[in-house]
Amino acid sequence: MNANLFDRLERSITDPAKTAITTPADETVSYADLIALSGRLANVLAACGVRLGDRVAVQVEKSVPALVLYLAAVRAGAVYLPLNTAYTLAELEYFIGDAEPALVVCDPGKREGVEQLAARVGASVETLDAKGQGSLMEAATDAPETFATVERAGDDLAAILYTSGTTGRSKGAMLTHDNLVSNALTLIEAWRFTAEDVLIHALPIYHTHGLFVASNVILLSGASMIFLPKFDADEIFTLMARATALMGVPTFYVRLLQHPGLTKEATSGMRLFVSGSAPLLTETHREWSTRTGHAILERYGMTETNMNTSNPYDGDRVPGSVGPPLPGVSVRITNLDTGEELATNEIGMIEVKGPNVFKGYWRMPEKTASEFRPGGFFITGDLGKIDERGYVHILGRGKDLVITGGFNVYPKEIEDEIDAIPGVFESAVIGVAHKDFGEGVTAVVVRSKEAMVDEKAILAALEGRLAKFKLPKRVVFVDELPRNTMGKVQKNVLREKFANVYLP
Ligand code: ATP
Ligand code: MG
Repeated sequence: MNANLFDRLERSITDPAKTAITTPADETVSYADLIALSGRLANVLAACGVRLGDRVAVQVEKSVPALVLYLAAVRAGAVYLPLNTAYTLAELEYFIGDAEPALVVCDPGKREGVEQLAARVGASVETLDAKGQGSLMEAATDAPETFATVERAGDDLAAILYTSGTTGRSKGAMLTHDNLVSNALTLIEAWRFTAEDVLIHALPIYHTHGLFVASNVILLSGASMIFLPKFDADEIFTLMARATALMGVPTFYVRLLQHPGLTKEATSGMRLFVSGSAPLLTETHREWSTRTGHAILERYGMTETNMNTSNPYDGDRVPGSVGPPLPGVSVRITNLDTGEELATNEIGMIEVKGPNVFKGYWRMPEKTASEFRPGGFFITGDLGKIDERGYVHILGRGKDLVITGGFNVYPKEIEDEIDAIPGVFESAVIGVAHKDFGEGVTAVVVRSKEAMVDEKAILAALEGRLAKFKLPKRVVFVDELPRNTMGKVQKNVLREKFANVYLP
């Protein structure tokens, strides 16, 4: 049987007239419309010279045609390669050079610059704007709807997705048809998605969260989604009256909590709030529960592995934990030096194995080899532990581990203590070069609105709660933490900014 993700999608459609996507502008797109437009676009791709296994690089604003372009590329047997809309031309130079696509689809405003980059790798260029118009759609208008979905094996590539670049240069993660299908089907079951569901989709579609979690879950369950170009608290409040689920990053929830309209009543028609991509503060979890009566369901995933763990749909959703491994996924914790598997509650490297795990990094065979254990476990780069109930707790990234006076300090442990201090909104703990200790534990703190808490008060509050070597040597204050477009705190930016705090 054809393992092409598109074929799986098409076979799962029971009601072609059912709405798949709506937009705030009241566009309604049915499953039949999606199939028809994907056929047109697949024909356009073929006419542009896109062949089996070719990369189709796409840097466009979110729109319905932009999502259908993903389906069309997969349908045509190409490898879909979405790029963050925030990337500048200078940044695109790296991605286009690395990916060597056959076709680049970009915003009309960037056409000229992209054409120069594309010419170097022999790629053609088409355009698509925020309204879903451009040369690509013009060509699609005249193209036939029928297209024979290309036969693909489960292990063939469906997409290359670059990582967010939080810890260094983005790497292209090669994802197969089976990776994406199995991940979506697992999540549909774990989170109980049915055709009755309506998801508020306010995430970008160039990242795993908005594309391979949100969109695939909806399309493969026959549900529908309301496509918002970006996060908009007012709009989300209006839409909650006719939706059942929201998937977001932690900052969505922080901002919704600041909205005066947030009540039990406003959220009473909703059945599910999911959070991921970055740690959800315990405080946010608790406040959301108190004010809405819903426990946010936090899950853990990454570009390379799709989703690894999820708090349960039924059962305890533990604040500060990302829940047990999803069905079919194995998670283990290993010693940072020896790689040996650790026992319950011991802290080490999080490793993952399962049908969700990618095939390797694009054109980085050595890096790929070094990130996989012989038994097939992928070394995530995240630190954590598994508690006695089998729930996974993330303690930060390996690259953010602070080694001070020979001791390992896990930033999350210190951050949790600091965040609990009255007057603190949030914090990030980093290691900064220190002449006596190698690295000094350094706390970067954002105060709550109007709070006056200072370094002395924070150090006094931590005294006795943490072993002496874990206590920050300095506490510095900022108005907000630097975050990338997925809401992830950029600790490398902080390390640079405060690189000199211990210099005389
Ligand atoms: P890069 O690998 O390029 O540095 P990145 O790791 O941020 O970037 P993504 O693949 O988008 O790129 O993010 C995956 C990472 O996000 C995980 O490895 C983990 O550190 C973090 N993450 C995801 N979900 C959660 C969560 N619920 N809690 C804490 N961290 C999370
Ligand atoms: Mg990563």
